[in-house]
Amino acid sequence: MEHHLADEAATVAFGQRLAAALPGGLVAYLHGDLGAGKTTFARAFLKALGVGERVKSPTYSLVEGYDIGSRRAFHLDLYRIADPGELEWLGLDSLAEPGAIVLVEWPERGVGALPPVDLELRFRHEAQGRVVAMEPRSDVGRRLVAALG
Ligand code: ADP
Ligand code: MG
Repeated sequence: MEHHLADEAATVAFGQRLAAALPGGLVAYLHGDLGAGKTTFARAFLKALGVGERVKSPTYSLVEGYDIGSRRAFHLDLYRIADPGELEWLGLDSLAEPGAIVLVEWPERGVGALPPVDLELRFRHEAQGRVVAMEPRSDVGRRLVAALG
């Protein structure tokens, strides 16, 4: 299922809609080239879930964690990772907590060190805007995609 995102506001609105449809935990892998809109989406999604602080791009920190009430959210950007073994020291075990919300940019660089994915989002450039393709990988992912229509 694909959505055309005509401008940045559309990417933000898409993140907000997905957040509104999220019942509990989620592991989402965010694919796409540099500038495709992964961080824009993640920021809108996390803010809509109730993250009050600034959502920084985890380009340098690799992972940022947030408390959303009693839930934990994690936003990863593995662009700078050359080998998934480099992730061991980050203590990513908490990513697999039930109910955790996990967004991963450049997930292919963390193969084997990441929890199983519910929803893959593929962002790509198209003319002035972007397109996002949603690929569910679990019941949670399928329900989300169905809720978005
Ligand atoms: P990534 O994390 O994939 O590298 P970013 O979200 O950091 O990408 O940057 C995407 C850039 O494209 C930002 O400047 C943002 O304002 C812009 N952008 C996001 N969504 C769209 C869209 N649908 N159409 C046009 N520009 C967009
Ligand atoms: Mg990014």
